Amino acid sequence: MKSLKELIRPNIWNLTPYSSARNEYGGRTARVFLDANENPFNHPYNRYPDPLQEELKKAISELKGVSVGQIFLGNGSDEAIDLSYRCFARPGIDNVVAIEPTYGMYRVCADIHDVEYRPVLLDDRFQLSADKLLASCDANTKLVWICSPNNPSGNNMEREAIVRVLRQFEGIVVVDEAYSDFSTQRPFRLDIDSYPNLIVLNTFSKAWGCAAIRLGMAFAREEIIEVFNKVKYPYNVNLLTQRAALRALRRKESIERWVQTLTDERSRVMEALVKLPCCIQAYPTDANFFLARMTDAKAIYDYLVERGIIVRNRNKIALCQDCLRVTIGTRLENDELLEALKNYGL
Ligand code: PMP
Repeated sequence: MKSLKELIRPNIWNLTPYSSARNEYGGRTARVFLDANENPFNHPYNRYPDPLQEELKKAISELKGVSVGQIFLGNGSDEAIDLSYRCFARPGIDNVVAIEPTYGMYRVCADIHDVEYRPVLLDDRFQLSADKLLASCDANTKLVWICSPNNPSGNNMEREAIVRVLRQFEGIVVVDEAYSDFSTQRPFRLDIDSYPNLIVLNTFSKAWGCAAIRLGMAFAREEIIEVFNKVKYPYNVNLLTQRAALRALRRKESIERWVQTLTDERSRVMEALVKLPCCIQAYPTDANFFLARMTDAKAIYDYLVERGIIVRNRNKIALCQDCLRVTIGTRLENDELLEALKNYGL
């Protein structure tokens, strides 16, 4: 790969970051805090939170098998997506390459940062071709976006293809593993020591059931995490979020139970759905949702909305004509969906 100095935007490489009061004083023994212009009343909300979220990172480090220095925490994984552009891609000059179809924020962020976005179509099994991805890269390609399991198709990208991109692409490869807890494939976050150009994204929004607290994770070698820390807002993860995440981490067993329940339900719902006349095909999935090709996605979507059931209409997305994306809910919710679809067209 190229050196980090070649990949990081020169203004970011040369940036002197903001130094907050809590950054400058890192010690634990002080009793009187008169440094940050805080209000002494209204404990604990009066104090700025830990800017580097050390207690939370220690707990995440144990859970995820990644060292504390290789973890970035942000306001959802969307923050890490945005930071990847801010750190690596020069507006109006650089470009990024991504699989297509995939999660929409990679493109939105490219547009926000005035960075050219180069989508590379997956094949009809929603698999990526390393050759095609690599052929779309040039000297100004800074990031390659791979989502696995992919949204909206639900499937894992083939490991060997991702490894080829990691080995042969000279820039940064971001592997978004937001849904990896629902998959049995070895997650790439365990391999960050082997790939200096790898950034892996995880989130508390899916398996952990914490979308509302907005907590996302990026795992990468320390030099990359240090750059993210330099560029992020000083107090980007608030106290309530840090505490709620620590509480969630103590309930690891219930999360494992949820994942088991949801993956069992996933098989049940897919098997039932493909038997209905309105469904043409359900695609193999490793996530907590699946993509289904229907006889008429728009009409079925509208029919479900009328009954108060909302799925995602992916009809206009590349390779997803007449497809609906269905998230797995509780057994009762899933049964409501199946019952409604059974009656469609009657
Ligand atoms: N990555 C993928 C692939 C997603 O599907 C989503 C949410 N739909 C996100 C990231 C965003 O996650 P967060 O809530 O952590 O911002």
